[in-house]
Amino acid sequence: ESAARQAEMIAEKVRLALNQPYALAGVEHMHQSTASIGMTLFHGLDDSTDVLLKQADVALYQAKDAGRNRLRFFNPAMQAAIDTRTAMENALRNALSQNELHLYYQPQVDQYGQTIGAEALLRWQRPGIGIVSPAQFIPLAEETGLILPIGAWVVHSACNQLMAWAGDSRTCDLQLAINVSARQFHQADFVAQIAACIARSGINPGRLKLELTESVVLENVEDVISRMQEIKALGVGFSLDDFGTGYSSLSYLKRLPLDQVKIDQSFVRDITVDPNDAAIVRAILAMSQSLGLNVIAEGVETQAQQDFLHANGCTAFQGYLFGKPMPISDWGKRLSTSPLQNEK
Ligand code: C2E
Ligand code: MG
Ligand code: MG
Repeated sequence: ESAARQAEMIAEKVRLALNQPYALAGVEHMHQSTASIGMTLFHGLDDSTDVLLKQADVALYQAKDAGRNRLRFFNPAMQAAIDTRTAMENALRNALSQNELHLYYQPQVDQYGQTIGAEALLRWQRPGIGIVSPAQFIPLAEETGLILPIGAWVVHSACNQLMAWAGDSRTCDLQLAINVSARQFHQADFVAQIAACIARSGINPGRLKLELTESVVLENVEDVISRMQEIKALGVGFSLDDFGTGYSSLSYLKRLPLDQVKIDQSFVRDITVDPNDAAIVRAILAMSQSLGLNVIAEGVETQAQQDFLHANGCTAFQGYLFGKPMPISDWGKRLSTSPLQNEK
């Protein structure tokens, strides 16, 4: 404790010294700099210099995150968070080659409860840990670039699934939606990749739908539009995922070659109790109708939610009310128990 106090005193002196206003030659007004300082304590030589510097560096970034111009000590909780992340990154690097990634399929239904397609959702069966949700590993995959091989695998698997469905009269009309992340969409050979998968599998490209989020389409809009048009020319459709959560303006929406918008589940959740959410959903449905876009609502969990959506013109639905995301083996049961009919 006494070492920590002394270190803190010295660091604070350094910070204040660096904080002094100073003049630059030939410039009238004064300048001032702020410093962020990271520190770590050690006893003896248990840790190598490298490790100690890394710890101080972690603390430095923590100081910056906390608003800069301050001191931070490295602590074990920080280390634990970093270790978990590093372990996850290393494990994710091998997940594809170890066949630990799987696609689950969640049904999408029309207003009669008829299954019209599915959304493919990634699951990671992590040894010793269990099923990891994509919300946990997709951001990491994006940061590390692992999303590129993973995304390519998703496209490949989706085409294989559509090919399998094409051979069965109960499933040949189903559409399959896949999620595409920003980094994946912007990679140079993305269009070629999609084209190659379609050609290899021989699927009807109209059965494949790419879900993009607003954060993908609002970045370099011109580039995005021309890329979307190239993909549309292959016959593939587009849905705008999580619609309503971002900042898409109507003028953009009109210019994007979209087929569908997907109302985000955060609006659907309270649709029957929160008048604001109800108003937003009504507005989305009215706007989409006038733009000629079809609409699907996600996260539909209750009959009351579906009724409200349907009464306001929504004719496609996805959510636990109709089925959770499930392995493809469970679709067999679903199809044989009630041919394309959801069992509500
Ligand atoms: P998303 O595309 O918006 O997917 C919808 C999420 O809502 C899924 O979570 C789904 O399991 C969940 N959900 C569906 N119905 C209901 C419902 O009735 N109630 C509630 N509470 N939740 C429901 P999941 O599977 O954890 O996926 C999370 C996100 O991860 C996805 O959001 C998507 O952005 C991303 N993701 C999943 N698979 C992929 C993939 O293959 N590639 C990329 N780039 N991202 C993916
Ligand atoms: Mg989605
Ligand atoms: Mg969504």
